[in-house]
Amino acid sequence: MVNVCKHCQKQYISPSKGYCCHNCKAIDKMRYEQIRVYLSKFPNSNAIQVAEALDIKPYTVLKYVDEGVLTFGRGEFEQI
Ligand SMILES: [Zn+2]
Repeated sequence: MVNVCKHCQKQYISPSKGYCCHNCKAIDKMRYEQIRVYLSKFPNSNAIQVAEALDIKPYTVLKYVDEGVLTFGRGEFEQI
C-alpha cells in the first residue's frame, strides 16, 4: 500500500496500512509519548492545543487519532 508518513509527509510503501515511515519510527514514539504526557496533564485539550504546546502540526496529532493509538475524551476532536 502507498502510505503517507505523518511526520515527514513522504509517501512510502508498506504491506499494510501505516502512518509512519521507517525513518520516522523514533520520532513517532517520542511524539506519542509527549502527547500522552501532555494529555494526562491537560485531558481536555484539543488537537490544536496539543500541537501548539508540543510544537508539532495539528495534522500529525490528528493522524495519531486516525491510527487509533490516541483518543481524546469528551469528543473535543469532532469540533475541529
Ligand atoms: Zn517519515
